[in-house]
Order: sequence, then C-alpha cells, then structure tokens
Amino acid sequence: MHGYNNKKHMNLPYCFLWGSCYAYVSFYCAAFPKDTYKLRRLFQSKSYTTKNRMDISSINGRTMQKSTQFRIKKYILGVKKVIAIASGKGGVGKSTVAVNLAVTLAHLGYKVGLLDADIYGPSIPKMLGLSEKPEVNTNKKLIPLEAHGLKAMSIGFMIPEESPMIWRGPMVQGAFLQLLFEVEWGSLDVLILDMPPGTGDIQLTLAQQVHVDGAIIVSTPQDIALIDARKGLHMFQKVDVPVLGIIENMSTFECPHCHHTTPIFGHGGAQAQAKELDIFFLGAIPLDITLREGSDNGTPAVLTNEAIQAVYTQIAKKMMV
Ligand code: ADP
Repeated sequence: MHGYNNKKHMNLPYCFLWGSCYAYVSFYCAAFPKDTYKLRRLFQSKSYTTKNRMDISSINGRTMQKSTQFRIKKYILGVKKVIAIASGKGGVGKSTVAVNLAVTLAHLGYKVGLLDADIYGPSIPKMLGLSEKPEVNTNKKLIPLEAHGLKAMSIGFMIPEESPMIWRGPMVQGAFLQLLFEVEWGSLDVLILDMPPGTGDIQLTLAQQVHVDGAIIVSTPQDIALIDARKGLHMFQKVDVPVLGIIENMSTFECPHCHHTTPIFGHGGAQAQAKELDIFFLGAIPLDITLREGSDNGTPAVLTNEAIQAVYTQIAKKMMV
C-alpha cells in the first residue's frame, strides 16, 4: 500500500515532464513547420536506435555464441593427450571399444587414464570389474581407481549400480567437469574419455571448455548407426575438435564352429563412410562373444583373446601416431 502511494507520487513529476515536452514539441512544429522534417528524423533516429539495438543484440547473440565456442579451453594437469571415444548412437559398443583401447594402450607402455563421461549410464565400473569407492586426497581431489594397468574414474564408483541419475543438464555438466578436473590423474600420456551417445550437453561442454586432442567415432556398419555417427562427426568438426578416425565395431561374425563369417550388421559401411567423408579409417572389430563376456565379467577381451588383442593393437598404434 505504502509502496503504491510512493509510486503514484513518483509518477507525478514524470507526467509533468512528458507533458511539458509534448507541449514544447507541438509548439515548435507549429512555429517552425520546415523543421518538423528534422524532428521526424530525430524521432526516426530513436526507432533506428531500437532497431540498431536489436541488431546489436542479435550480433551480440552471435558473438556470444562464437565467444563461447572460442572460450579458452582448459588443459588437464599432467595429461598429455585427451581422446574422446564417441558414437552417434547407444549400443554400438563405444564403451567396450573405449575400455579395450585403454587397456591395449596401457599394455603398449603408455600411462593411461579412462574417464567414464557417460554420467547417466556409467558402464566402466562393471567393464573394469571395479566396485570400490574412490578416496579423496589432502588436496580434496578424487584418487582414481586402478585396474588392468590403467587409472579409471566414473560417477558409477560413487552411486549404487541401480540408482538412476535424475539430473538436469547443468548438474550433469558440473559432475563431468569435476570428474575431469577434480581428479588426481597424476602424469598421463593419454586420457580416454568414454562419451555418452549422441550430441548433447556433455559433448558441448567438452568441446567448449576442455582441450581435446581428438575424437574417435565408433559405429556399427549399419546404415541407421552410420547416420547418427555422421551427426557426431559433424558436431566435432563444427566445434573444432579434430576427428582422428572411425572404428567399425561388430563388423563381422565368425562362427566358432564352422568358421563361416556372417556380416550380421552389414560389413564395410563405416569404412565406406570414412572414405566418403575423407576421415581416417582406424579399423574393424569383429562381433565376438569374448568381447561381450569381457564387458560383463570385468576382464576386457584384449587380455584373453589374442586375435582381438591384435586388432586393438593395430588401432591403438594408428590412433597414437
Ligand atoms: P555403447 O557404449 O555404445 O552403448 P556398449 O559398449 O555398452 O555400447 O556395448 C553394448 C553391448 O554390446 C554390450 O553388451 C557389449 O558387451 C556388446 N559388444 C560391444 N561390442 C561388441 C563386439 N564387438 N562383439 C560382441 N559384443 C559386443
């Protein structure tokens, strides 16, 4: 009530001021009709200003988009190379590839870290057979867990397996950045990021805020997966993250009994796609039961199957060139 009265009192001088201005302008127009042209220009210039302001704001919008795009990207302390393993679609074997590549690189003598960036669906704990909770050091940084010669971090280490992550975008982005920067990675030759599928918040956060040396796209040879793989590829290209190459997963299936090979999801689709898009083709990984079993029992197949190990070693060497 009190505020309302005050406002009323405040409005009185404004009414008087605007009233006087209006009277002055009317008088001026009547007295000096030739100058009304100038006055119209004056008022028009006001509308120009508004238009200009709109233009400027839209330019600012674009500038802002650009400036966020070209925001200074942070390096992770002690980490020489960051490589994101991405896919346009879920279920094409991206996490399996990330885990087996990381273990292969560790066996080739590199100091390797593996970060599970799939906040909504972390699968690295299970695939590496890890279930402990990471500890915090005196610098209040999380200490990564170790398995098969590599350091690993996942939100899955901190939440029960069955708990769904009911988080909005900003929380997920915050958690992702914490897992990157608030972890005591020590000195690493390469940090492998197992990205969530698609082109969502995490991909954008990564591209805008983190220095990434390259992305690898995993796809099955199937058209439906390749369409999404292309989207992922274009996203990384748009945000200036170099795409190191494409891996075709579940390429062919060889019957363990008669050794007949069957291209269950097609064959060569990703290779053809790589050629068409002028992207390096890193290799084809077969559909193999040991890869599936290894993911489920926490012992990656590269540790138990020599043929699979050979395929992964070739890919790992190509990607580290
Ligand atoms: P994404 O990370 O793309 O969602 P996953 O890595 O979780 O996919 O793989 C999905 C399923 O497919 C898992 O059960 C995994 O064990 C299995 N899988 C992945 N790649 C292969 C492969 N080359 N051969 C057999 N099974 C595979």
